[in-house]
Amino acid sequence: EELPEDPIKENTRRQVTEACFSYADPKKTSKPELIHVSLEMLTELGLTKEDAATKDFLNVFTGNTILEGTKPYAMCYGGHQFGNWAGQLGDGRAINLAEVTHNNKNWAIQLKGAGETPYSRNADGLAVLRSSIREYLCSEAMFHLGIPTTRALSLSLSGDKVLRDVMYDGNPDYEKGAIVSRTAASFLRFGSFQIFASRQDSKTLKTLVDYTIKHHFSHLGKPSKETYIQFFNEVAERSLEMVIHWQRVGFVHGVMNTDNMSILGLTIDYGPYGWLEGYDHGWTPNTTDNGQKRYRYGAQPEIVYWNLYQLANALYPIIEEASPLEEVLNSFGDNLVESYLVMMKSKLGLEKNEVNDARLINDLETILQLSETDMTIFFRLLSSITSDDKKDGLMKVWDSFYDSNEIKEDIKLKWENWFVDYTNRLKIETLSATERKKKMNAVNPKYVLRNYMAQLAIDDADKGDYKLIDELYQLLKKPYDEQPEHEKWFVKRPDWARNKIGCSR
Ligand code: AMP
Ligand code: MG
Ligand code: MG
Repeated sequence: EELPEDPIKENTRRQVTEACFSYADPKKTSKPELIHVSLEMLTELGLTKEDAATKDFLNVFTGNTILEGTKPYAMCYGGHQFGNWAGQLGDGRAINLAEVTHNNKNWAIQLKGAGETPYSRNADGLAVLRSSIREYLCSEAMFHLGIPTTRALSLSLSGDKVLRDVMYDGNPDYEKGAIVSRTAASFLRFGSFQIFASRQDSKTLKTLVDYTIKHHFSHLGKPSKETYIQFFNEVAERSLEMVIHWQRVGFVHGVMNTDNMSILGLTIDYGPYGWLEGYDHGWTPNTTDNGQKRYRYGAQPEIVYWNLYQLANALYPIIEEASPLEEVLNSFGDNLVESYLVMMKSKLGLEKNEVNDARLINDLETILQLSETDMTIFFRLLSSITSDDKKDGLMKVWDSFYDSNEIKEDIKLKWENWFVDYTNRLKIETLSATERKKKMNAVNPKYVLRNYMAQLAIDDADKGDYKLIDELYQLLKKPYDEQPEHEKWFVKRPDWARNKIGCSR
């Protein structure tokens, strides 16, 4: 909190001990150009469209100008990557510019892709246009879906070239460099705490936990062992809420390493994420995870549990008692089953409690995976089913099947039986069909950022055309609304886009 007058700013790679961050200035960009600004986020910060049109704005949010009185820094953290402890990671391509308070809300502002830091290890600290578009569009889309997330303020080109891949002929494949400015109350991660536990540095660990409670969990009161446990409990609750939202909308994060788990329960680090098209518990968009598929859709809740277990280990040195931490972990398990059921029932428009509800949902999840079924379209169409529909309810969701000609008789029969069960179950509900539809449409989005949609925007942007970025941005501001002018985005993934997923690097 107390900043020295003249901090040493050194971006050379190193292990940073007994410190939570290092001062690091963003790299100057050669020809920055603003591509898009989130008007909603601007307003949150107390800025206007006019502000965003200034040269100052461009320079600050691409790292060319450092605001007076601020001291940019990169954060130190570690993490478990794919289940293995990876040691120090840290902000290798993110730099915190400043913190802003507006309307009683605190925002940390970060640049992603603004150059190297002490944590860049063997990489360049830069970001390419494609991954920046994906982060920019998706984080704002998640916000408008009502899902806790880091936000995006602006998307810019740096004007510099960045090298990620070599082409098949051996020549370097230079790409356009880009910078996203993003915001959150805090960018602290599970790994921010783990690093100190791993180094047996309980002193710095305690300093950081006390800081976190004071600034972000102040309602818990003065730091003590009791508040540390409550802190852990709240992190568990928030993380659970976040992952249940992910399951609801079919968001697959792709890299749920503990360094990508926000201590505030925000969705953070939009890398190789993807959206379920065909409903499939085994699907992951992360092509580097295709052996074990550790971070597949269906595993996300248990991965949150695994990650919380690691956080419990990290907090243990300042609590020195295992049982209260275990209790939190146990109740996470119970709460998960309960929250998942409540969420799925809301997707099905079920408000009353029936003993067979869990089975009805389980059956649905099984049948949905027997033939490729578009998750978003299926649940959206489901809201037009009424209790009179019986087995012909199937026809109302017919458009959600990727290849309806291929659906075999036995699967069709399973569907028809399920619709008989479902429509019978609807008879117990008291809401009118119209009211139920409205409620279901408020939890089953009509529009999500399908992988191919982001890819189309990327292809255009590569050629200097940013219209589609704005179109998708506007569309995804109202994901639950009917938007007849945007009906073309309420379609199954086109065939050419099968297995095409964006890349994170
Ligand atoms: P991620 O898989 O995005 O969570 O990144 C894992 C670690 O690699 C983090 O510490 C990142 O800061 C770092 N990293 C990722 N990309 C770069 C890059 N281009 N330059 C430097 N560090 C990076
Ligand atoms: Mg990360
Ligand atoms: Mg990343």
